Amino acid sequence: MSSLLEVKNVTKRFGGVVANRNVTFDIEEGKITGLIGPNGAGKSTLFNMVSAVFPPTEGEIWFHNERIDSYPSYKIAPLGISRTFQNLQVFKNMTVLENVMVGLHTRTSSGIVAAALRLPISKKEEDFIYKTSVEMLKFVELEDICDLEAGKLSLGKLRLLELARALATSPKLLLFDEIAAGLNHQETLEMSNLILKIRDLGISIFIVEHDMDLVMRICDKIIVLDQGEKIAEGTPKEVQNNPRVIEAYLGADEEQEGSA
Ligand code: ADP
Ligand code: MG
Repeated sequence: MSSLLEVKNVTKRFGGVVANRNVTFDIEEGKITGLIGPNGAGKSTLFNMVSAVFPPTEGEIWFHNERIDSYPSYKIAPLGISRTFQNLQVFKNMTVLENVMVGLHTRTSSGIVAAALRLPISKKEEDFIYKTSVEMLKFVELEDICDLEAGKLSLGKLRLLELARALATSPKLLLFDEIAAGLNHQETLEMSNLILKIRDLGISIFIVEHDMDLVMRICDKIIVLDQGEKIAEGTPKEVQNNPRVIEAYLGADEEQEGSA
C-alpha cells in the first residue's frame, strides 16, 4: 500500500471559526476515498487546502512524498492534482469543446497568460489540445454535443463537462466536490459508474458527496468530519455502523426522510 496524499494534523482557522481541527488521514493510490459529514463540517475547506486554494493554518500536506501545503495553486495541477467545484465553473457562452480546450490551454508551454490573451499557439500544441479534448468528451459521452453552448446544458451534462475538463489535465488525483448534487437517480447511477471507470484507469479519487448510496457503493475508504474534526475512518460498512457517525450525520438524514 502506498500513500498518494498525506494530510497531517491540519488545522484551518478563518478568524474565530475553526473549519478544520487537527485532521490526519491519507489517501491510497488507485483507490476511491470519500469525505462525508454534515454541512459546515469542513469538507470543502479541506479540499481547498489540498488543491492549494489557500494554505492550512497549521499542519502539513504531502503528495507523492513532496510537501505541498505552502505551494501556490498553479504549482498543484502540474503535480497531477485536479478538481471539480461545488459551484460549477463552466464558461457558459463557450461551446462544450472550447470549455475542455481552455482548461488544457493553461497547461501547454504557452501557458495561462497566452490562453487568457488568446494568443496563437503552435499548430502541434493546438492539435494536441483538440485531440485530447475530443477524447475526454468521448469518455464522458458528450461528444455528440461538443459544439453546443455550455449554457444550454442540463445540470447533469454540465457536471460531466466539468469532469471531462478535470480529466483532460492527466491527473493522478481527482477531487470531486459534490459532483452528484442535484442529479436524479439515473444520472447519479451513471456518474458513479463513470467514477469507477476513472478509478479503473489508475486515477485516485477523493470525493465529497452527500448521496450515501453513491458513497457507500463506490468508496474503498470513507473519512467522516464533524465540526471540523475527523470522527471516523474506515470501510463503508465500518463507517455506516459507527455510532458516532450515525449520531452526527447518518442518523440525522434518516430523521429528515422520516419526517418528510
Ligand atoms: P462543508 O463543505 O463541509 O459544508 P465548509 O468547509 O464549506 O464545510 O465550511 C466549514 C466552516 O468554515 C463553515 O463554518 C464555513 O462557514 C467556514 N468557512 C469556509 N470557507 C470560509 C472562508 N473562505 N472564509 C470564512 N469562513 C469559511
Ligand atoms: Mg462544501
